[in-house]
Amino acid sequence: MSFLESFDINKGLSLYIHVPFCISKCSYCAFYSRSGCSDSLMDAYLERLLEELDQVNGIMAGRRFDTAFIGGGNPGCLGPRRLERIAQAVCKCGRPSEFSVEMNPESLDESFFPLFSDCFTRLSMGVQSLDEKALGFLGRNADLLNTRKGLGLSQKLREQTGCDLSYDLITCLGSWHDELKDVRELTGNYPSDHLSVYALTLEEGTPLFERKPALPSEDEQYEILSRVWDYLKTIGFEHYEVSNFARPGKRCAHNCRYWAYGQYLGLGPGAASTAFSEDGSVHRYQFRPDVGSYVSSGLFGGYDKEDLNRNESVEELVLMGLRYKGGLDLARLETMVQKTIDMSIFEGISGFQIIDNHLIPDDEGFMTADAAASAILGKLY
Ligand code: SF4
Repeated sequence: MSFLESFDINKGLSLYIHVPFCISKCSYCAFYSRSGCSDSLMDAYLERLLEELDQVNGIMAGRRFDTAFIGGGNPGCLGPRRLERIAQAVCKCGRPSEFSVEMNPESLDESFFPLFSDCFTRLSMGVQSLDEKALGFLGRNADLLNTRKGLGLSQKLREQTGCDLSYDLITCLGSWHDELKDVRELTGNYPSDHLSVYALTLEEGTPLFERKPALPSEDEQYEILSRVWDYLKTIGFEHYEVSNFARPGKRCAHNCRYWAYGQYLGLGPGAASTAFSEDGSVHRYQFRPDVGSYVSSGLFGGYDKEDLNRNESVEELVLMGLRYKGGLDLARLETMVQKTIDMSIFEGISGFQIIDNHLIPDDEGFMTADAAASAILGKLY
């Protein structure tokens, strides 16, 4: 079966597009992107992506994507004209009910605003901190002045177009950093519909990993995150995934599809897709993280396929379900493991409740989701 034939469009399709360009590389970042790229490389990327989207629109047979997300990298690097061509191609069969684009504060300007009236419904901005020292520590391209400028523009964008706003923050940088001050200042001065709050992790191969900074211990991280999570709840955010918070009705539908283990199609170098066969087996496709190969290989030629075995797909279902308020779907788990599950395996795992045949985390469960997943997987077979 070819790459595109693997997706059942009758079940609804979410689309992810990976833009592999950044102005400069942040010191902690392990995502695939390249900095300092030429216009000609961005144009070649654009043309290849539009060719792919044309084929994808063909299989959509007039149906719109349920959700779409242009991420990266920093899609703002493409500029408004290239981004408009991508957005229009995505909306060819109708505007997705949620259409997000990521952009860094220093990339947003008013020339992008019309795209939010016509195509995008949501801006996801990587703010990361409102502390000058923290921005430097993370190797961000934008200093505090430019970060604030971008935030101010995002507020204006929301007023003018009614789009939803999401901001990303990074916590647990070290004892010198006051996370709660960051969170209070961001939420107090720049209202948003959604927040993603991550704990910094050192990814091998990044400059920050090489520097080996002293980061908070696991217990200290627990305390920092608890303080931040409690504060966000007091100001009305719903905690709906380990790192994600939303105003009522403003969960990110696109990411919820990942966490609920639904199918999605990913285009671009480094982008992954998940598809399911009728028998429930799971297929992962990914284009290698190399924009040069992406622009030079045959159409859909470079998407490598991996068939997950039953244990691997069960592991993914459990890991994602326990990190998300949608919970672990126990009926689906039974189907995947092909046996009736003895509910006593969930006894002694605190932080979770069974509601409507889903195992759902509370705040304690969010903290211990990975350990709970290991415990459950160990008892399943
Ligand atoms: S802007 Fe985002 S994708 Fe680009 S290097 Fe920084 S963290 Fe990574």
